[in-house]
Amino acid sequence: MQWLASIKIQPGATGSNPCVGFLGPALGGGHGRYQGLHGLASDNFINLNVVLADGSTVQVNKNSHSDLFWAMQGAGHNYGIVTSAESRIYPRKIDTWHYHNYVWSQDKLEILFERLNALHKDGKTPPEMGVEFGSVAVDPSFNTTDPVLSWTFGYAGPAKDAERLLKPFNDIPSPELQAPAQKLADQIRDIWFTSQPGHKPSVYANYATGVEPLGAMYGYEPWRMQRLLGLKAKYDPHNRFRFYNPLIKG
Ligand SMILES: Cc1cc2nc3c(=O)[nH]c(=O)nc-3n(C[C@H](O)[C@H](O)[C@H](O)COP(=O)(O)OP(=O)(O)OC[C@H]3O[C@@H](n4cnc5c(N)ncnc54)[C@H](O)[C@@H]3O)c2cc1C
Repeated sequence: MQWLASIKIQPGATGSNPCVGFLGPALGGGHGRYQGLHGLASDNFINLNVVLADGSTVQVNKNSHSDLFWAMQGAGHNYGIVTSAESRIYPRKIDTWHYHNYVWSQDKLEILFERLNALHKDGKTPPEMGVEFGSVAVDPSFNTTDPVLSWTFGYAGPAKDAERLLKPFNDIPSPELQAPAQKLADQIRDIWFTSQPGHKPSVYANYATGVEPLGAMYGYEPWRMQRLLGLKAKYDPHNRFRFYNPLIKG
């Protein structure tokens, strides 16, 4: 499936998770992120080559054993072993997905469901909105009595198209989590380093969040920074590469 995607071909539909096979899910239906556009994986079966319980082999499609074809598009595990299958494929038109995660306090439950109902309008969900899941769960680090609402949308297309649909959800006020999360992270880091007197804070550059001092990321020894900056001056004198944990902030 990944190979098909690499040559710009979109399988009819696959499971959302590559750790399951294709036929296992498809024989039971096969929901996935493209189902709004192309249906379930089993909707895209063209032909199944099947070994039946008596050892005979049959082709199962809309002209041959069509009754079995109907049954195997959802109850397929019950009738035989599929040795190979033909499935419809489509030109891959979607190059990007946009994901947006939301967190709300419990008092937003009603407005959230009002807006979800408006988005889905009796089955008229925009077909590109291929992923949506959420939870209502108590998280004692946030609130010991009221549940927290967490919701995720995944849209098959660019951010601007997705965000147009998500505007009603962007307008539901959500708690400011960045500052408390950073505070908690700082506290944990400080506890960690207090227990190691004399050890200067250090962080693996690929896990740094950008708030750490340069020495913590790249080493405190003066010679090391001098050497890195010397190489920077030689190979990137205009500081073009400064997006990610930069040696020189732009
Ligand atoms: C992590 C995870 C993610 C999942 N995500 C999705 C998802 O996105 N969409 C979705 O629809 N489902 C999903 N599922 C559910 C999944 O569809 C079922 O678990 C499915 O049974 C997995 O099939 P399998 O071939 O991997 O497993 P198996 O246990 O090998 O097969 C399941 C059943 O299908 C039969 N079977 C398998 N291949 C054939 C064949 N060629 N001919 C006849 N019978 C066959 C097996 O005998 C068995 O009875 C997920 C499951 C997990 C664990």
